[in-house]
Amino acid sequence: MRKRQLAIARLWYEANSFTPMRAGLAEFQAREWVSGDAARRFYAGTATEIGGVLAIEPDYPDWEFHYLHCTAAPPGGLVEPAAMAEIKRLILEGLAQQKWDAVYLSLHGATATVDDPMPEYHLLAEIRRLIGSTPLGASFDLHGNLGVEMLALLDATSGYHTYPHVDMHLAAQRALRILIDRADGRIAPRIAAAKLPAILPSFNMRTAEGPMSEMQKLADDWRRRPGILDVTLYGGFAYGDSPFAGPTAVAMADEVVLAQEAADRLVQELATRRDRFYVVLPDPAEGLRGALATGGSGPAIVLDPADNPLSGGIGDTPALLRALLATDRPARTAFGFFWDPPLVAECHRLGEGATIHAKLGGRVTPDFGAPIPVEARVVKLTDGRFRNEGPYEHQLPMDVGRTVRLDVQGIQVIATESCQTPNDPAYFRLHGIDPEKLDLLCVKAKNHFRAAFTKMARCLIDVDAPGPAAASLAHYKFRHAPQGLYVGKSSI
Ligand SMILES: [Zn+2]
Repeated sequence: MRKRQLAIARLWYEANSFTPMRAGLAEFQAREWVSGDAARRFYAGTATEIGGVLAIEPDYPDWEFHYLHCTAAPPGGLVEPAAMAEIKRLILEGLAQQKWDAVYLSLHGATATVDDPMPEYHLLAEIRRLIGSTPLGASFDLHGNLGVEMLALLDATSGYHTYPHVDMHLAAQRALRILIDRADGRIAPRIAAAKLPAILPSFNMRTAEGPMSEMQKLADDWRRRPGILDVTLYGGFAYGDSPFAGPTAVAMADEVVLAQEAADRLVQELATRRDRFYVVLPDPAEGLRGALATGGSGPAIVLDPADNPLSGGIGDTPALLRALLATDRPARTAFGFFWDPPLVAECHRLGEGATIHAKLGGRVTPDFGAPIPVEARVVKLTDGRFRNEGPYEHQLPMDVGRTVRLDVQGIQVIATESCQTPNDPAYFRLHGIDPEKLDLLCVKAKNHFRAAFTKMARCLIDVDAPGPAAASLAHYKFRHAPQGLYVGKSSI
């Protein structure tokens, strides 16, 4: 008997509408750009959506899994239209090859291009046109900006329940199991959604503590209710300017009334906690003072989330390093990182041991602070390749381009050829830095960083410095998000 046919494809990208950066095909091709057996090899054993799909494939012997085009790029700026057109073409071409019994997509939910603030909606609509009433499922990032119109195109869906995202694979498995049950006729799920009219920053959105952990417990209660198939609460992506901006509660149940009740109730609960998401952070000097005053073992860690590449940062803002240079700091201090391909190339030309006069930061744009002139020694050169050892995207092979470790007045500063968040201990080990043994570590990172570093850290302190992903949303100019959304103290 012919096996049932499942198509799998992936487009995972989070776009910051307010950074000067753009993402082209090269960014996608450098990170994930695979299909067929190459996709099986690439994702096997990884805590990613496609890794999760591969892991449950043996549970469905009646189904044949086809891995069509799968791609992702590290979060950054708006996608160039030509790149999006090519990705869409590859996914649609794969889907047009044959008739399917179900189609699953691993999406992010906060992708945007230069000329389209909701390309995932348009992709899903085109897929729906192509496959007719074939069951269609999708999973999303917890920071997806989801529209009710988007969800109406789906038969099954789920998203991450954790931030840091350590359940990407489980989100895919939840969505896929429901999709296959639906395709096999065992269930007929109905999807309902509700939105909070606000844009929430993600500083205080971690699911281990604070308002989002309370929300996840309430969502868990709903997930245990008879008749409920899945409940996912999306915080939304604050720097994604989209008509679908803002948090969304999505529920799937046998009855649409029950699904709608779950979504509505969760959004009511979120509304009562709304203001706790708008945090006030210390400036870099104050944050460093606080970190260094903390006792205990392990590194004191200071995070500069306004320049976190995973939120659309550009690896370029100088304020934290400037404050660090003006601080009386301990011997074992490291700073990750600056995105500076010309500097990396020059260091590789000069070789380890050389002394170089460089300018750190303010290279992409001086808008967030002027470059810092320094004299530095080239300590270590690397090819930028490692495998994640921490729980976030565990075991995913990483390539941050060539890198250099510089010694700047005793601070070990890393510069890289590509702009990626230093989220994993292996990133530092690659540079001969044992993060557990540091006294002070300063990073351009936010919450995903905490997945691997919380355990070893003496303290973790977020600071607010000028950058493309700052804590205050008031000065960002939203053009596509609905007017009237609350952004903390004011509305857009
Ligand atoms: Zn996310």
